[in-house]
Formats: sequence, C-alpha cells, structure tokens
Amino acid sequence: MGFVIFILGLIFGSFANVCIYRLPKGKSIIYPSSFCPNCNKPIKWYDNIPLLSYIILKGKCRYCKSKISFRYFIVELLTGLLFFIIYKKFGLSYLNFVFDIFVLSLIIVSFIDIDTFLISDVIVIPGIFLGLFFSFLFPKIHNMERLNSFLYSFIGAIVGGGVLIFLAIIGKLLFKKEAMGGGDVKLLAMIGAFLGWKPILLTLFFASVIGVLISLILIMMKKKKVDDYIPFGPYLAIGAIISIFLKGYYFSGFLIE
Ligand SMILES: [Zn+2]
Repeated sequence: MGFVIFILGLIFGSFANVCIYRLPKGKSIIYPSSFCPNCNKPIKWYDNIPLLSYIILKGKCRYCKSKISFRYFIVELLTGLLFFIIYKKFGLSYLNFVFDIFVLSLIIVSFIDIDTFLISDVIVIPGIFLGLFFSFLFPKIHNMERLNSFLYSFIGAIVGGGVLIFLAIIGKLLFKKEAMGGGDVKLLAMIGAFLGWKPILLTLFFASVIGVLISLILIMMKKKKVDDYIPFGPYLAIGAIISIFLKGYYFSGFLIE
C-alpha cells in the first residue's frame, strides 16, 4: 500500500509542477495539457510519467532538446516521499487525505514564493477556510471533540496571522524596513487553520532556525548577499511539515495535539 501512496504522491507532484508554473502567470491549470515552454509542442502522456520520463529523456525535451528544469523531478519526488511518510504516520484514513492536501498546498506555495517572492492568494485564502472546515468535519485530526477541534483551528488561524503581524510591526520599528510580507501572514494563518495553535509556535521556531542557517550558508557560498530578500514562505512550510510529524508527541513539556 505504501508504494501505491508513493505513486499517488508522484502524480500529485506532477500536478504541483503545473500549478507552480501556471498559477503566477494567471493561466488555467486544467487546460491546455502540458507543453514544452520552448517549442510549444504538446507533451505526450508517455513523456509525462513522473520521475521516469525525466530520466529516460535525460532532462531534455524530446523534440527541441531544450533543458527541462531538474526541479520538476525534485517536486515530484518530494511530494511522493511526503505522501508516503504521512501514510506511515497516520495509516490509511482521512487524516492522510487532509494532510496530503495540506502538504501539497505548502509545496506549491513554497516554490511559487521562491520564483516570484509572492505567496499565492489563490492557494492560501481557500486554504484557511479549508483548514477550518476540515477541523470541524474531522475532529480526529486534532484528537478532540468537534467544537474544541474547530476552536483549536480557529485560534490557530488567528494566532498564525497575528504573530507575524506583531513581528512585522516590531521589525519595522527596529530595522525601519519591511521584514515580513503580508503573504507570510496569510500563509501562517493557513498553517494555523490546519494544525491548530500549538504547532504554530513550533512552526515559527523551526522556520526561524532553519531559515537563519540556510541563509547563512547561502551568504557564505556567495549565492546571496546580506541585503537580498530571502523568501520566508518555504521555511514556514518546512516548519509546518516538521510540526505535522510532531503531532501526538510532547515538546518541552506540552502535548502537540
Ligand atoms: Zn521542446
């Protein structure tokens, strides 16, 4: 079963690639089917098999031989692996379904943020409502009674949004410049809606630590300068994904529901 879930993840990863490429351009994600951005030739189904096609075609378009970004491969593999790990943690249940949708949204939002420095409203705004809705419909995702589960999620969304607005104001007072985008506020509100308020604090903690570390590495490798804008969305996503797997564990004395 794990293998089937992994394959399903690859297929959704392939869909994520389409969203990452088309959403920022305001294009439809359904029509037309995939085509090569260089020669515009439609991609045949047998050249569109996750992971395999990339390897068989050696990362090049079949017709014009232009390079296909390695990122397509990475996004597919990442989605497949995350679907698999979520299945390992929660077993075959609707928890799977909820967290797969959540993780898929995080992947799409993160890569669009890396490309455009923008958090995609078409994902995070419906995402906030979806998180609230799922918390009401499936209280088991927080291991609570229905009303408590909904409140846990509702407070999560408010804390998620509020904490970053608070940090942004502090940042503006201290550094006299914009430290955090409004998109990050909405993204963390979505994370709060899906995970509840306790994991928000964990998410922020991991996002900051990993964000600072990776930024330092990038600066040392001279790939970024100290003043460069570094998107925070992907780090929030990494923090949120770590927090999913800490659900049910105690973290410095309190239970992560
Ligand atoms: Zn081509």
